[in-house]
Amino acid sequence: MTVIDASRLTQRFGATVALDDVSFVAREGMTVGIVGESGSGKSTLVRAVLGLQRPDSGSLSILGRTVDMGRRMPRDLRRAVQLVPQDPKHTLNPARTVRSSLWFHMAAQGIRRSERQSRAADVLAMVALTPEYLHAYPNELSGGLAQRIAIARALLGDPKVLVCDEAVSALDKGVQAQVLNVLAGLQRRRKLSIVFVSHDLAVVEHMSDEITVLRAGRVVESGPTEGILRDPADPYTAELLAARHSTSPA
Ligand code: ADP
Ligand code: MG
Repeated sequence: MTVIDASRLTQRFGATVALDDVSFVAREGMTVGIVGESGSGKSTLVRAVLGLQRPDSGSLSILGRTVDMGRRMPRDLRRAVQLVPQDPKHTLNPARTVRSSLWFHMAAQGIRRSERQSRAADVLAMVALTPEYLHAYPNELSGGLAQRIAIARALLGDPKVLVCDEAVSALDKGVQAQVLNVLAGLQRRRKLSIVFVSHDLAVVEHMSDEITVLRAGRVVESGPTEGILRDPADPYTAELLAARHSTSPA
């Protein structure tokens, strides 16, 4: 089943064409990787599928429903597609405890007060954390812990899709592996669809069933991961493949 179908999205910022006729699909229980160097349009694409920014043209359907991009995305669709951002320390309000951040998110999603405590404990368990972390402040958490909290927060509304935008790019390799394992385990157990966005092809290929390669706002190739790794159709992909063995900037 297709959970996100983005078709021919175009977005300009002045003279910059951030997205130029970009299409991709995300399927239930599968991971689609979106890879490309910094500035290739990845986060613009992410904002479009989350309904945070309206593209100039193109169409989007989520869970089989056509999204009217001229309007605020309906709450159930916003709830179904959740972001795991790059820097949880930035997106977790430093003045709030984890509990307060999670409660705030649940209120925004219309989750009833009486359900919030058990829902919070559930999502923390899904990322292998105990409820004691509810009392922590973001500055008391390591990067890996903060990222697991960000994943837990994304799970509060029982989403169908997690959109991970450079979600492990700020973490050390060992911690990256832990967070990727958490995501992979969740996906298996919950049939989640993951849109895994990164400049780092090494991480993307590890996670993804299919890959879409973006360069300067255009799709240069897309298809099953194995085929793309074995036989990249575009020289840019071959460059990314070569670069993944050297250390990559965050
Ligand atoms: P990536 O996430 O792949 O690094 P982005 O989607 O953030 O790429 O950016 C793609 C291009 O669009 C870049 O040239 C960036 O400078 C430009 N851009 C993104 N958002 C804006 C904006 N709000 N205003 C102007 N230019 C933007
Ligand atoms: Mg980005």
